[in-house]
Amino acid sequence: MTSPFSLEGKTALVTGGNQGLGRAFAFGLAEAGARVAIAGRSEPRNAAIVAEARGAGYEFLAITADITDDEQVTEMMGSAIDGLGRVDVLVNNAGACIHKPSFEVTDQEWDAVWDLNVRALWKASIAAGTHMRELGGGSIVNIGSMSGLIVNRPQWQPAYNASKAAVHHLTKSLAVEWAPYNIRVNAVAPGYVKTEMTPVDQPEFTRYWIEDAPQQRFALPEEIAPSVVFLASGASSFVTGSILVIDGGYTAV
Ligand code: NDP
Repeated sequence: MTSPFSLEGKTALVTGGNQGLGRAFAFGLAEAGARVAIAGRSEPRNAAIVAEARGAGYEFLAITADITDDEQVTEMMGSAIDGLGRVDVLVNNAGACIHKPSFEVTDQEWDAVWDLNVRALWKASIAAGTHMRELGGGSIVNIGSMSGLIVNRPQWQPAYNASKAAVHHLTKSLAVEWAPYNIRVNAVAPGYVKTEMTPVDQPEFTRYWIEDAPQQRFALPEEIAPSVVFLASGASSFVTGSILVIDGGYTAV
């Protein structure tokens, strides 16, 4: 019997798939049976993940793209469709965060966060949605954050927090609008996860990031990946417009 979590015969594109959470998502989707494309700006890091995947028995397609450039989003989607034959799953993962008090945030910093976290996600969703509507369906998984639900401490990150709240509501907007096309749109909202973006080991954050969390720890990227596989797969066929919080209980207290 085929598992409802299986992605055999499916294809997936993961933005920001060359490190951190995106890398774990790419491997998780491949383990579930999908053929996977990753996109990121760094050609060497893309190539390193392709080599690592090959060692594990998976053939990843690497696409070099800066998705804050609208044209490169179009090209990324074209390359993924050409290389994989179709795109059944889009994981909008690439994101950035700037830690600064609001009075010190420059317009450029605000724009940099929103251009990647919201505009690029919007453009990639439209490109993928157009393709999925022609295919007769698909699944988009957005990477939101618990920062879209709470305000992190002790560091301030107003542009990031607002951008992730926007991701959550855009997820719901597209889910409702695209349900008739059999396109499901969901998001995961992780808590603190050990990656380049999030210095979970720095002592000044322990009091708030670790001690305030009911599970008293941070997560590893591999703990978030199975939820992305779930939302990508038929196991979640009646799930759309959902924000799946994966935070060790952080937002429950
Ligand atoms: P990282 O900084 O480790 O990785 C970011 C990824 O995005 C890299 O692969 C990077 O590749 C890619 N990227 C950055 N800018 C661009 C761009 N302009 N065009 C294309 N790709 C780009 O971040 P994380 O793995 O920690 O985060 C991944 C996602 O998870 C983000 O959306 C983040 O907000 C979210 N998240 C993270 C949490 C955490 O605690 N780590 C918690 C909650 C949510 P390259 O540099 O080669 O472009």
